[in-house]
Amino acid sequence: MPEDAIIKEEDRFHEAEGEPINSAVCPGCGCLCEDIDLTIEDGKVVQIFNACSWGLSKFHLGHRFLRKPKRAKCVFPSREDPSGRALPISFEEAINNATARLKAAKRVVMSGLCQTTFDAQLAAISLMKRLDAVVYPSEGMLLTPFFKALKSLPYRTATLEEVRQLATTVIFWGVNPLHSCPRLVTRYAVFVAGINAPDRHISRKVFYADPYENDTGGFALRIPLTAENERDILSTLTDVIEEESFSIPKDLEAVARAIEASPFVALFVGRGIAYQENPQALMDGLVRLSNAISRRRACALLPAVSDFNAMGFYFALLQSGIDPAGDPRVKGDLREYEPAKGDVLLCVGSDPIWFFTEAQITALRSMEIPVIAVSALRNQTTHAASLVIPVAESGVEAEGLTYRMDGIPIWLKKSLPSAQPTDLAVLTALEKGLGD
Ligand code: SF4
Repeated sequence: MPEDAIIKEEDRFHEAEGEPINSAVCPGCGCLCEDIDLTIEDGKVVQIFNACSWGLSKFHLGHRFLRKPKRAKCVFPSREDPSGRALPISFEEAINNATARLKAAKRVVMSGLCQTTFDAQLAAISLMKRLDAVVYPSEGMLLTPFFKALKSLPYRTATLEEVRQLATTVIFWGVNPLHSCPRLVTRYAVFVAGINAPDRHISRKVFYADPYENDTGGFALRIPLTAENERDILSTLTDVIEEESFSIPKDLEAVARAIEASPFVALFVGRGIAYQENPQALMDGLVRLSNAISRRRACALLPAVSDFNAMGFYFALLQSGIDPAGDPRVKGDLREYEPAKGDVLLCVGSDPIWFFTEAQITALRSMEIPVIAVSALRNQTTHAASLVIPVAESGVEAEGLTYRMDGIPIWLKKSLPSAQPTDLAVLTALEKGLGD
């Protein structure tokens, strides 16, 4: 074969001129893919290999899943003037304005905090303690019930690499992986052969439990259930596995047989549980199912987190002496927040306005609750905020420690320069600004 017919990685890589960065980590979802190859030119990413479309948007400093990534960077600090327009101010003014609002608040409500680095999360928790604030982590609808369940129930997990190598049956419960963590299926859970696969052929049995059919059905068999009978179905499946029952309801036969025939089962749980009447009971039930499976074969339970450092936030709570499963300041589902006169909403790396119900938004407006947005990107929350403090995008414009969905620590690299401070610097300045 002629030498020039061999396409080498580095040849492909140099299709675009510029500075190559190999093996960058994508700060998109909880997969934290560490195989992203970038080319940088004039302070911009001009070529990306291996990322999904969400990852592409991240490195182009835009919002996820747009057909064409569009830069949405917050550039300068601003405060809302009496006519509702955003008035540019300096960073110093923004910090002073924010600390004045935080000091005057009857209650500070923090939200987000799952899309930033571990050090920034520790700084946010220090601020939270100082202000006696409550916090709605952006992944709270999944991870708060998850950590509550683990407090009283045994729990087995595995790394994503173990799932890739060992899992022969994979169940997605309350999560559409194509939307929540797109490359989970291609890198670890579905379209990859592990050592348990005969002749290294991809032969996993894949199921998804969801009240509705969705695009996961393209490669997985649905466990049919409704919002009303989800817990009953889960409980029946657990009984079948526990008792090794010969009488299996028809709808559960395929998944029960697949579990029984598997040396290793991976059970991914997602935010979909929050749409059930009693998410905590459903999460407890899923941990019980995982334990029932584990009695006769290995089973790993993993939260399929969408926000890249959601696990990091819960680890930061633990490291800061706050019990994520018992401290009343740690909340779950943002939709349960009840605005009260005198609240100040401090949003860090999140877009809560996008998630709020109409009633919550109306209450925020009628009670004139100030919203402080510490954000790298423009979004509905920065649009509605009383004060916007722009920051560098973690994992693209700032480096730091993060934790993958399976708890593995991963270091985010800095690929692009930024004129904005890190959120760690902003959170530290806010606490300093509160004085002694
Ligand atoms: S799967 Fe997640 S971490 Fe991987 S490239 Fe896509 S958004 Fe980034």
